[in-house]
Amino acid sequence: MSVEQAFRARWVFPPESEPIRDATIIVTAGILTDITTQRIPTAKDLGSAAIIPGLVNAHVHLEFSGHSTPITPPLPFTDWIRSVIRSRQQEGSREGSLASGIQECLQTETTALGEIATSPLSAKQLDECSLAGVVFQEVIGISEQAAREKGSQLVELLTDYQPQRDQLSIGLSPHAPYSVHPDLLQKIVQLSRSEHCPLAMHLAENRAERELIGSCEGEFRSFLEDMNLWPGDVWHEFRTINDYLRLLSQADSALIVHGNDLQADEIEYLATQSQMSVVYCPRTHAYFQHAQHPLPHLLDRGINVALGTDGRSSNPDLDLWQDARHVRQTFPNLSPNEVLNLATLNGARALKLCSSGLTIGRQARWSLVPLDALSSESDPWRLLFA
Ligand SMILES: [Zn+2]
Repeated sequence: MSVEQAFRARWVFPPESEPIRDATIIVTAGILTDITTQRIPTAKDLGSAAIIPGLVNAHVHLEFSGHSTPITPPLPFTDWIRSVIRSRQQEGSREGSLASGIQECLQTETTALGEIATSPLSAKQLDECSLAGVVFQEVIGISEQAAREKGSQLVELLTDYQPQRDQLSIGLSPHAPYSVHPDLLQKIVQLSRSEHCPLAMHLAENRAERELIGSCEGEFRSFLEDMNLWPGDVWHEFRTINDYLRLLSQADSALIVHGNDLQADEIEYLATQSQMSVVYCPRTHAYFQHAQHPLPHLLDRGINVALGTDGRSSNPDLDLWQDARHVRQTFPNLSPNEVLNLATLNGARALKLCSSGLTIGRQARWSLVPLDALSSESDPWRLLFA
């Protein structure tokens, strides 16, 4: 049996050149070996579709995949978190939710994930499918005692499950400034550096977070007091988002998840740190009715921005391509090529995957986007995002 496979489609979008009409990609033993317009009689014809580099969903919580609709209310934010906590307590089968999330990602042509996991089950189940990416084990602990306890379990968390496939790795996710004690965060960053593991942290998600770390006031204080979790002022060395960015810059690599509220000086700092990426979750951002995302500013400053769906707790589905289309509509001044990169190449870079998936000589990882068969549109970019 030949190990060579060929796939023909109406358009192929290679990562570093113009789209190619009626092209065929050739994959030999899993490696992309050619992209050609020559007729290959044995090629599988994929019809009116586009072959693009593999879609990368750089931020998702698969554990919420059992939800048919996002968790309400979206606002105020801390009420949404209370609902999430209630939903976690009442949840049915975690295994079933993870399996249905993985299934949905595969069905919507996602090839790699940045999954935030609250149990080793995520890594185990992902290891059994074809998805690449990083499983970030979530760490939460805001009191001094929780920080000490969790701090002593970090190595275990990182080594609890070792993936069998080299395309899957384990990272850590210190949850957010309102849920992780700064001492614990420092330990996590040290471990990231010594073990070369990536980090992902929800940061600059909204104004209330800034209010909490800056002055210990606002809705997060009330929320933590109501939950009997108020730790006192533990943020004295971390009064600003920039303080967090500077600490996270010492990690092996870091994903700043959301970054909805990043300000000019913070963006300037990020622009100097090539090992840091921002993950924008477009439809989740819209669900919470935030002010416009600083995406164009981030891209202007050369910062690597990837896309994520976040979980079904704040997004109706896990179809990353729908988030890319949302970006295309929200930011019409961005070029379609830039938007495609957000959903593919930039995500691969954020998760340190070895290539975009459509690089000749590298492991092939590509996605298929159906194109309107009846459309006579000659511009491949319009056709792609139609
Ligand atoms: Zn998230």
